[in-house]
Amino acid sequence: MNTLTGKTIGFVPTMGALHNGHLSLIESAAQGNNIVVCSIFVNPTQFNDPKDLENYPRPIEADIVKLEQANCDVLFNPPVNEIYDDNEHWHLDIGPLEHLLEGEFRPGHYQGVMQVVYKLIDIVKPTTLYLGQKDYQQYMVVGKMIEKMHLPVQLVMCPIEREPDGLAMSSRNIHLSAEDHRHALVLSRSLTWLKQSFDFNSIAQLRQKAFDIIAAEPGVKPEYLEIVDGETLLPANNSSNSVVALTAARVGKTRLIDNVLLSPL
Ligand code: AMP
Repeated sequence: MNTLTGKTIGFVPTMGALHNGHLSLIESAAQGNNIVVCSIFVNPTQFNDPKDLENYPRPIEADIVKLEQANCDVLFNPPVNEIYDDNEHWHLDIGPLEHLLEGEFRPGHYQGVMQVVYKLIDIVKPTTLYLGQKDYQQYMVVGKMIEKMHLPVQLVMCPIEREPDGLAMSSRNIHLSAEDHRHALVLSRSLTWLKQSFDFNSIAQLRQKAFDIIAAEPGVKPEYLEIVDGETLLPANNSSNSVVALTAARVGKTRLIDNVLLSPL
């Protein structure tokens, strides 16, 4: 409950170029709260590649129409200088979680994510924050920050929305040519295969096979495919309560990520 308004606020932070994945988060927020706030902010501190930041799609007019249709109550779309002063510094030690998987390939990325989410929570003062499973590690990182900083906000994870052909929806899919799109389907295909084949005793072989399937696809360069404990993101073992397979790959010039929960189903 927000103490100023006496109402619950569901908050969906995004970088815009909204698709049905974002809109499913808005819908979950609307179901559980009196007020829904969505932010659109392409956060410069979480980009480690300046070209990626420059090329990030920003179709704000179309986004506003989608938010109106989705009955979002408030859009927060600040300019960069409203969020950051010059030369601001942020660092929060969250242990290995920051440096694994995405962290290894995008150094500094999660410090930037925590920096902006902290500021957005401070401004919006939500009851509940809605994040997508699509960015599984981001969910874990934000959860750790909330815990470490004792922030009074609940966290909800929403499932991955996919295209009918299986491709996980992403704002970056706009950069895929028709051919790239076809090749990119290897990501969801190999994860689905992993889910069907999952067995605790053959994790190493399954991991290698799924990686090889992705690597064999023309135009696709896998960065990682790992089968990890869903809570620590360290390699999964027999005592893991949940197991997740996560992958990142370059498809043409576009970097895509995807994941699937292997256990519990
Ligand atoms: P982004 O705009 O990419 O920063 O994403 C904003 C939020 O939407 C994050 O919590 C993402 O995990 C979530 N999201 C992105 N793509 C999807 C998807 N395909 N399905 C569900 N949630 C998503």
